[in-house]
Amino acid sequence: MSRLVIVSNRVSVPEKAGAAPAGGLAVALQAALEEHGGIWMGWSGKSSGAKAPGPLDMRNHGKITYALTDLTKTDVEEYYHGFANRVLWPICHYRLDLAEYGRKEMAGYFRVNRFFAERLAPLLKEDDIIWVHDYHLIPLASELRQMGVKNKIGFFLHIPWPPADVLFAMPVHEQIMRGLSQYDLVGFQTDFDLDNFGGGLVREGIGERLEGGKFSTYGRTFKGGAYSIAIETQPFAEFARKAASNSMVRKARQSVEGRDLIIGVDRLDYSKGITQRIDAFETFVTLNPNYQNKVTYLQITPKSRSEVPEYEQMQRTVAEQAGRVNGALGTVDWVPIRYVNRSIARPLLAGLYRLAKIGLVTPLRDGMNLVAKEYVAAQDPDDPGVLVLSRFAGAARELTGALLVNPYDIEGTAHAIARGLTMSLDERKQRWEKMMDHLVKYDINRWCEDFLKDLTAEDVEETAG
Ligand code: UDP
Repeated sequence: MSRLVIVSNRVSVPEKAGAAPAGGLAVALQAALEEHGGIWMGWSGKSSGAKAPGPLDMRNHGKITYALTDLTKTDVEEYYHGFANRVLWPICHYRLDLAEYGRKEMAGYFRVNRFFAERLAPLLKEDDIIWVHDYHLIPLASELRQMGVKNKIGFFLHIPWPPADVLFAMPVHEQIMRGLSQYDLVGFQTDFDLDNFGGGLVREGIGERLEGGKFSTYGRTFKGGAYSIAIETQPFAEFARKAASNSMVRKARQSVEGRDLIIGVDRLDYSKGITQRIDAFETFVTLNPNYQNKVTYLQITPKSRSEVPEYEQMQRTVAEQAGRVNGALGTVDWVPIRYVNRSIARPLLAGLYRLAKIGLVTPLRDGMNLVAKEYVAAQDPDDPGVLVLSRFAGAARELTGALLVNPYDIEGTAHAIARGLTMSLDERKQRWEKMMDHLVKYDINRWCEDFLKDLTAEDVEETAG
């Protein structure tokens, strides 16, 4: 079969040949690249000041070649911090109020996509299959097509796709839709995202939804589909089982002194609903005074995108809120919220998930949310915890054994916490087994296979050129 070429904003380069990278996605993509042989291209994470970046940094690891490019400082500001993270991210998470649209940033975004295409095109062979990832690189296929590239190109969006009225508030929405139409397969996380996309095309009068999951617009026919991203379920479950004897996990267990542990794990991001969640925890303790000094809520929140003002502001808001609630509810021998504002390594995280009676995953909007899936996979089958999950996470479409909540309903979330903590073992097991069976069947390898199978299927239209 043909070579695979993956393009994403950032690339997971293993330390040495054969060494496993950290996340499940990177593992699955490495495995697909190993199988077919190929290239993974993306930004090195470095910027080369004002001058144009030097040649690609090519690194060969067995059958995989990593092709890394630097960007200029202006590119990083406009393409990455500017348009990708201050326009597309908020718009795709339904946050029109936070979108900071500027023509300079928009131009930078399209310029960097062209630059990626210029660097990638000379590396391509005629029958390579190209798979582009995420919102940073939507116009890449369009740029490649203009350079005469006729290969099959697939795109997967890791974040949500908004409804028409939200999307159309973005001044360049038409170019973005046009960019997507240049792929042969466009994958979304859920059927809701796919419907939003189809609905937008029809509403704008620029396209049609055809039979067989196809769309027709801008003179092309292409496929769309929902492919819910997943985790390496069984290895992660095994990892969590072993982590129970990890010394840090043992210390954590001792330090909660028999109290019920509630865990939240999220990058510091306004889409994650962290402030509403802290409110819900406070409401839960206030409405259930019998839980005073009986629960510990551990919120692990690594900093992210600190260059973007909204994130910098949130850093202060969450820290102040956790401090205020601890001041209001805490006693001399009880700190209700433990707020950890840095990243935790996966072995410790897996052990902490397993310790926790409740996994509190309440984003206001999330493409999928892997933490929800990891929490389920990490549980002890004989005594599983309860997942309290936002209905606005993509994962809610699959994890129907969770207690689903509306994160804007603070009291509703507080009630779900109380219900989870008092749930019978039988019900916990029943709910967990249902979710775990699903996660074992639909793991990250299946996700990768399903996408590539549809991309390489015969009925995906070859471009007319
Ligand atoms: N994660 C981690 N250490 C931390 C916090 C999170 O390794 O301190 C990992 C977590 O295990 C998960 C990922 O980061 O695999 C977060 O993915 P998710 O889909 O939940 O959210 P995203 O950050 O991609 O929006």
